[in-house]
Amino acid sequence: MHTVEHLIAGAWTAGSDRSMVIDPHDGTPVTTAPAATPHEVAAAVAAARAAQPDWAATAPDARADALRAAAGAVEDACGLLARTMSAEMGKPEAEAAASIAAGVGTLRQYAELGPLRGGRTLGGDPGALDLMVPEPRGVVAAITPWNDPVAVSCGLLGAALITGNAVVYKPSERAPATGWLLTKLLAPHLPPGVLSMLAGAAPTGAALAESAVDVVAHVGSTAAGRWIAAAAARTGAKALLENGGSDPLIVDADVDPAWAAGQAALGAFANAGQICVAVERIYVHAAVAEDFLLALVKEAAAFEIGPLVDLRHRAAVHGQVVDALDRGAKLLAGGVAPDGPGAWYPPTVLADCTDEMRVMETETFGPVAPVVTVGSFDEALRRAARTPYGLAATVLTGSMSNAHWASQQLEAGTVKINAVFGGAPGGAAHPRRGSGQGFGYGPELLDEMTATKVVHLEAPPGGW
Ligand code: NAD
Repeated sequence: MHTVEHLIAGAWTAGSDRSMVIDPHDGTPVTTAPAATPHEVAAAVAAARAAQPDWAATAPDARADALRAAAGAVEDACGLLARTMSAEMGKPEAEAAASIAAGVGTLRQYAELGPLRGGRTLGGDPGALDLMVPEPRGVVAAITPWNDPVAVSCGLLGAALITGNAVVYKPSERAPATGWLLTKLLAPHLPPGVLSMLAGAAPTGAALAESAVDVVAHVGSTAAGRWIAAAAARTGAKALLENGGSDPLIVDADVDPAWAAGQAALGAFANAGQICVAVERIYVHAAVAEDFLLALVKEAAAFEIGPLVDLRHRAAVHGQVVDALDRGAKLLAGGVAPDGPGAWYPPTVLADCTDEMRVMETETFGPVAPVVTVGSFDEALRRAARTPYGLAATVLTGSMSNAHWASQQLEAGTVKINAVFGGAPGGAAHPRRGSGQGFGYGPELLDEMTATKVVHLEAPPGGW
């Protein structure tokens, strides 16, 4: 059992108001974690504020060395971190290890990119020079989710730290020991106060979002992101939001339905559907719909997944499935929570779905593949576009003109043609509408973590 503590001003402290995290595989206790009070939040922010100027004044190369050493420590502890992540949120250990490796890679990328950053120089009047200097923003609150807890945290923390910010990190209350272990690996390589960690749930996150920080970076649900954006508007902090999605998958008339079903299953069922860019809605052309559905049911039967994060989330996912069935969807696979301990839920396929079902309108974040049969590619595009989100979308087609047309029509940060996952490392996009704002990944995240100052230089009359 892990006993999580807060890290405030370089000191570990037990905190109060403990709650328990239960292993979603079998219901056994895994972690107890405290909930930081507004007073503890204020103390962590004050310590970050005090430590930040010296960290900003540290040579970028030295900051990069610290990040590289921290990345090495995370890599060395991958086994323990993966076991903890799996026990807290259900991801199979091998997948957890792969996501930790991705996080380590991100820390190393930022260690390389950070020292290379610079601003433009502009020539104005003769003899004058303008320097566009990127400066750290100051104190960054990093508030993260449970579904990919190490990789997401390494991105925000790595980018904020390498650019000279101090960070107050609040990992998810559903994976607190994972965040705590990560902090224990990173913090020894940083000066005290540069990285603090606060355990706790939404009230702690809210207190942090309302505190005197300069950036609130939130990866999580749209509802929380909107609340945080409002809090940041009141304090003047910059809000960086990477939030939920309800990504469509369009299956065109000319693709192999068995291959398309394999893509759909991967997109909808990987990590038990708990991926921000999971396939959440499927629009399949009538010409291939029957074969596609038959193949998707086979894929669902063969797909191995871990449990959902907890029973509360399972109830929410099942509620969407029941709503769809009540409104006329046909259950082709899954849809029944097994008896016994744990938060297991089977890969589920729904046919005859309609636009107003909750499973089509909102994020499900579970292993559910709701399918709509459409009469044309344009109808699929039109219905896919009916969403308050704008994270990503996938199109499976053999037609270059349909691929091009779809990439222009779909209002999403990422449009993927003929692959539900993949993409070059370091890619970053702007989420649209309810899916957030700003770059949460890639080299562009370094820009989000800095503010550009223009220094206009002119010689005094008579010269220097
Ligand atoms: P969540 O928003 O409930 O929680 C995420 C973090 O925000 C947690 O640390 C939580 O304590 C905190 N939080 C919750 N309410 C808050 C509030 N009012 N003020 C401040 N902090 C608050 O999300 P979750 O359930 O942990 O994660 C799943 C969600 O995250 C899904 O919607 C998923 O799509 C999204 N997500 C998005 C991305 C992306 O890059 N777009 C990546 C991963 C997950």
